[in-house]
This record gives sequence, C-alpha cells and structure tokens, in this order.
Amino acid sequence: MKTLKDFNFKNKKALIRVDFNVPLNDKFEVTDATRIQAAKSSIIAILEQEGSCILMSHLGRPKGFQDEFSLNHIVAKASEILGVNVKFVSDCIGDKAEEAVANLESGEILLLENLRFYEEEKNGDAAFAEKLSKHGDVYVNDAFGTAHRAHASTTIIAQFFQENKCFGNLLAREIESIDKVLNNSERPVLAILGGAKVSSKITVIENILDKVDHLIIGGGMSFTFIKAQGGKIGNSICEDDKMELALEILKRAKAKNVQVHIPVDVIAADDFSNDANTQIIDINTIPDGWEGVDAGPKSREIFDTVVNQCKTILWNGPLGVFEMESFAGGTISLGNSIDTATQNGAFSLVGGGDSVAAVKQFGFAEKVSYVSTGGGAMLEMLEGKTLPGIDAILK
Ligand code: AMP
Repeated sequence: MKTLKDFNFKNKKALIRVDFNVPLNDKFEVTDATRIQAAKSSIIAILEQEGSCILMSHLGRPKGFQDEFSLNHIVAKASEILGVNVKFVSDCIGDKAEEAVANLESGEILLLENLRFYEEEKNGDAAFAEKLSKHGDVYVNDAFGTAHRAHASTTIIAQFFQENKCFGNLLAREIESIDKVLNNSERPVLAILGGAKVSSKITVIENILDKVDHLIIGGGMSFTFIKAQGGKIGNSICEDDKMELALEILKRAKAKNVQVHIPVDVIAADDFSNDANTQIIDINTIPDGWEGVDAGPKSREIFDTVVNQCKTILWNGPLGVFEMESFAGGTISLGNSIDTATQNGAFSLVGGGDSVAAVKQFGFAEKVSYVSTGGGAMLEMLEGKTLPGIDAILK
C-alpha cells in the first residue's frame, strides 16, 4: 500500500483528491470544517517537503456552473485551518486552471473549482480525468468519503499515474482502522449495529458475522428481531418483511458461534416526541399505543459488560432516538462503556451512516480510537466490498 512516505515531494506538484464537501449556511460560510481539518495532515506533510499541493474536490450537487456551489466559498476557511494562503482558480480544467498550476510554486496550495461543475466527473469520463491528471506529478487520494464512487477524480484518474499514485494520510488511516477491525483484530471482537432499519444494514450484518465474536443489535432495528421471535412490540418501528431474514441471521450467528445481544428492556413512549409519557418495560411486552425509543437500564448494563470484555469494537448506529434528549440515554451510556473499554486498551472504531453525528454530539469523538469520515464508503467496506477509489491506487 503506497502512502506519502514512499515519495519525496521536493519541487513536485501533488494533485490531491480531498473531500471538501462541507456544509455551508445561507451566507455561504462553512458550518462544519471537520473535513478540511482531516485533509490537513497530508497537505502539510507535502508542503514541509517543499512540494506544492493542487487540491480538487466536489461540493454539493450542482447542475453545471452554479455560484452557490463554488469552492471559492471555502477558501478563507481552508486558509485559516491550513495556516497557508490557499490560492483559487475558477475552473478545474482548461487554460485558466493550467496557467494557475504552472504558476504555482513550492510551498503553495491551489484549490481547483468544483469538479462536479462538469458532469464528466460523476460519469467517470476518462478524457476529463486525463485533463485533470496533467496538473500533478503525483496523484494522492485522500478522500475516503468518495472512495466508493468510480468518479473521474477518485478512480479513473489513477490510471494516468502508473507508479506515481498513493493514499493520503487520512485515507491510509481509514483503511488501516477498518482492517484492524475486520482482518487484523484482537479478539474478542464486537460489532454494535443500531439505527433505524435492518434493511439498510443486512449486508453489513452478513459480512460481519464471519469476523466477530459478539454482535449487539440495538435501536429501531431490534424490534424486527423481537417480533420475529414472537415478542410484543406495540407501536415500535418494525420491518415485517424482514422478520424471516432476522430469524435466519440469528440462526447463522448461532452456527458461527457469534453471541448476539438484543435489548431486554426499553424506554417506551406513548408518542414520538421528547415530551411523551414514558415507561421502562420488558422489550417483549410493549403494549399497543407505546413504542420503544431507547435501550432500558438492564440492557445498558448487559451491553456495558459485553463492551468491556472485548478488545476490538465497531460501533455503527445509535441505540435509540438520540436526536431527542429524553431518548439519548442509551446511546450515551454505550458511548461511555466504549470510552472505558478504549481506555483499558480496546481498539474502537465508529462510523458508517449517521453514527458520527451521534458520537460528535455527545463528545465521544475524542474518546474512541478512530472516527471514520466516510458514511457510505465505510458501510461498503463493512459489507466486504472493494472500493473503486482504493482499488485504483492498489492496481
Ligand atoms: P441509521 O441511519 O440507520 O444509523 O439510523 C439512525 C436513526 O435511527 C436515528 O435517526 C435514530 O433516531 C433512529 N432510531 C434509533 N432507534 C430508534 C427507535 N427505537 N425508534 C425509531 N427510530 C430509532
């Protein structure tokens, strides 16, 4: 696996695919700069070697050239975070871009305009990728968030660099972290899958059954498992058409010696609102008119014990409706358990889908070993898929 360490960037132009697809408010100010921060390590490493950086990214879903999606909006924030004045050019290919690249000196950073102003980017157009490739001596992919897409700048471009391509520090860390959970893990290994739906996590569960010793199934999707086993779940969310599959998963887990832990009690609410009346109740006996919205105290205790006996922990998805303060307790409790386990030497990885939002909201991001930056990309890796953006560098 080639990384920045395999190159000397002195007087070289590094063409880096970053993920600067950051949220903007109505004044076009960056409201969450995590992704810019995440790209800093690679950029600074290259500048320190007296190389220069040409950054390319997409922003949002533009239809052609649309000023509201211009990466110009993030130049000030990027300059502030990187501590270097970031230059900007209002196109990513063509004369203007080529001139800006030619004028770039060692130690400087140039940000190209939004790649998705050209539909060729998403179409994975080889001619477009080739034009982009002319900007750099070395291609660095540091955008995990788009590594599962075979777009021009994330995948197709790599073929124009033969040997001169590598993973950036962020992408390398993502790959190593997932590898540490799926392939080179210290046992016992635990996967915690929560969130709303079984259907969105089926392939993950199926792939992961071969890798783990324990599986916690929490959140909304646990009710499909409970109902399938004959429990009474009241008005809790459930995917009836997935009940058979749920039973099949339990059967397969048993055959593979994976211990499955499903909540035994819940906080049930009589309304899907923060101010609803609540009761703590056995998960099998939820009355009609009530729905399970969070893990109950006994479940939290059981999960705490499981978490703290494991050496490798993967967490994807909340244990309850964490967006409502009244129903965030189970997710917070689990976060605390993982914090303790991590302090005691376990490796903990959080990511996939929206899990990162929950982790950040409750301040767990600094307490776990690694928080993945790519929702969809991470889920696809957990599903056992080879990501085209990663494959293109390895080829
Ligand atoms: P996911 O994107 O699949 O990880 O699901 C996250 C969503 O699951 C969050 O918005 C939670 O509010 C929701 N969720 C978790 N537990 C429950 C539950 N018991 N009932 C309804 N929604 C839930």
